Amino acid sequence: MIADSLRAIRSSLPDDVVLVAVSKTKPVEMLMQAYDAGQRVFGENKVQEMADKAAQMPKDVEWHMIGHVQTNKVKYMAPFVSLIHGVDSMKVLAEVDKQAAKNNRIQDVLLQIHIATEETKFGLDKDEMKAILASGEFAAMKNVRVRGLMGMASFTDDTQQITREFTYLKSIYDQTRADYPDMNILSMGMSGDYQLAVSCGSNMVRIGSSIFGHR
Ligand SMILES: *Cc1c(COP(=O)(O)O)cnc(C)c1O
Repeated sequence: MIADSLRAIRSSLPDDVVLVAVSKTKPVEMLMQAYDAGQRVFGENKVQEMADKAAQMPKDVEWHMIGHVQTNKVKYMAPFVSLIHGVDSMKVLAEVDKQAAKNNRIQDVLLQIHIATEETKFGLDKDEMKAILASGEFAAMKNVRVRGLMGMASFTDDTQQITREFTYLKSIYDQTRADYPDMNILSMGMSGDYQLAVSCGSNMVRIGSSIFGHR
């Protein structure tokens, strides 16, 4: 079941698009089914749950934090997390840098950009993002590497609106990446909208329910 879903999704994605299997709330046995089907990149939205699962899973899994990041939780994932998608403030970025230094690591992160119309979704606007990247504080951070941008479209059936939001994020990504050569990841697209996201230029999709079933 999980193996079949994974195979179907993978075969629908271009080779250069990374599939993050979003396994939040799902038990390790289900993650292991995906692992045995070849999946190595898993996304979680709670630090404690990710750490618990990481301790039980093989060491070649890449763990991505896709949820909103609280400053006081960064230290618990700093030793092992591969990519933090949801960085949306200087404060969090500074804490990630500090904890990465303690672990002798260079931590890859994405900046989360607010593209949806809903008030509740986290993220920076374009000017806030530019201000962070242009700051002396960021320039002085030795242990953090901004690898790209992440965004979530509005929760709507209006595909034109979703397309506008993804296209907007892609344009910010292209503009920014011209100045920051470390950037080559654009994380956008979930179960309901990943095909649209890929057609708008996403190269990393975060898919949960279409692989593991509803939560
Ligand atoms: C839960 C979650 C996903 C996956 O959602 P599905 O609709 O189950 O594919 C993707 N991105 C983020 C940030 C999430 O929190």
